[in-house]
Amino acid sequence: MHVALLHYHEIALKGRNRGFFEQRLVHHLRSAFRGTGIDQIEALPGRVRITLKEGVSWETVQSRVQRTFGVVNFSLAKGVPISRKDPNLTALCEAIRKDIAPLSFQTFRLTTKRADKRFPKTSLDVDREIGAHLCQQTGKRVNLGNPDLTIHVELLTDIAYYSLEKERGPGGLPTGISGTVACLTSGGIDSPVAAYRMMKRGCKVVFIHFHGRPYLSRASEEKVKDLVTHLTRYQLRSRLYLVPFGNIQRAIVLDAPPPFRVVLYRRMMMRIAETLANREHAWGLVTGDSLGQVASQTPENLQVISEVPQLPILRPLIGMDKQEITEQAQQIGTFETSIEPDQDCCTLFVPPHPSTKSRLDEIEHIEQTFAIPGMVQEGIDGTEVMDFQFP
Ligand code: ATP
Ligand code: MG
Repeated sequence: MHVALLHYHEIALKGRNRGFFEQRLVHHLRSAFRGTGIDQIEALPGRVRITLKEGVSWETVQSRVQRTFGVVNFSLAKGVPISRKDPNLTALCEAIRKDIAPLSFQTFRLTTKRADKRFPKTSLDVDREIGAHLCQQTGKRVNLGNPDLTIHVELLTDIAYYSLEKERGPGGLPTGISGTVACLTSGGIDSPVAAYRMMKRGCKVVFIHFHGRPYLSRASEEKVKDLVTHLTRYQLRSRLYLVPFGNIQRAIVLDAPPPFRVVLYRRMMMRIAETLANREHAWGLVTGDSLGQVASQTPENLQVISEVPQLPILRPLIGMDKQEITEQAQQIGTFETSIEPDQDCCTLFVPPHPSTKSRLDEIEHIEQTFAIPGMVQEGIDGTEVMDFQFP
């Protein structure tokens, strides 16, 4: 019987978190495997077992598991029944011997884990017993330091699993374990990466995009929809808020000195985003800011922008440079969409010389001339909602 065995980091599993962690992981996997025919997914002590089905390729399993945060590594494994009363390992030894016979290798090692400590042989006993059997039967040698082949054995209560290759999972924490955050998402390179990094730490991400209609085409929105569709493969369900921002920008342009426009735009975005985030019970706002990358991301301007919301602003890319962010975007597959040409609303009415050092008192003084609550309300009233699901 073939299964996939999935492992996670024990570090996140202290105390009462453990049950919650496992429950979220299994819940996520069940959703991720919807439509594949695989429906037997269980939390066992210290690992998750997915019982495979005839007709479902290993590639399908891999692709779903590789996008499930919380999984550190996983393997295709075969089971052999064992018994505490009669801890004879001949059947297990023979099954392994047959499976490794066609493989080309000279040296090997065993790594056994005993999940049920009541089994009367220790992990080391089992390593030695199987190792000796395989040496004798195959003529291959044991090499603990740098073997060609590593055979993993996991002893559960009445079944032993063995696997010949461990594959890396994405790591991180299971979706939803860290609550919900709202990510201000442009069609650019940075914010989709910021969203991904929060997802990886167990957050459910809600997306908020400000568009420039009626002054700009739909291009940035279409890009954001593509990006959200792509990122939904990690969290399986997403919500996208599309907020009309063109009129708000126009109002700012008419009344504010050009150098301060960008910071004023951002502060308006924060007000609207916070209202939407509260609707979603999100505990933080996420941006793709990276320190010093553009005028709105200088220390002074970031501080003035951060004064607006009550919610914390999370900036997972703050210490990364463009090169690092770009590489990550390529890895997660958002880069190609992000670099498609568009007209982001931020390119609308951008002054030639934006201020890099705005001061809070100055900005607040300018804002007194605006009817801010009405502008926020206009944005909220015009907001469209889209829901995404994978698969
Ligand atoms: P990005 O690549 O994410 O667009 P950027 O380097 O172009 O970032 P800015 O355009 O100054 O930098 O945007 C900084 C952050 O502000 C973005 O990462 C995003 O979180 C938010 N933001 C900017 N424009 C929008 C928008 N139109 N809708 C939603 N959020 C936005
Ligand atoms: Mg941008």
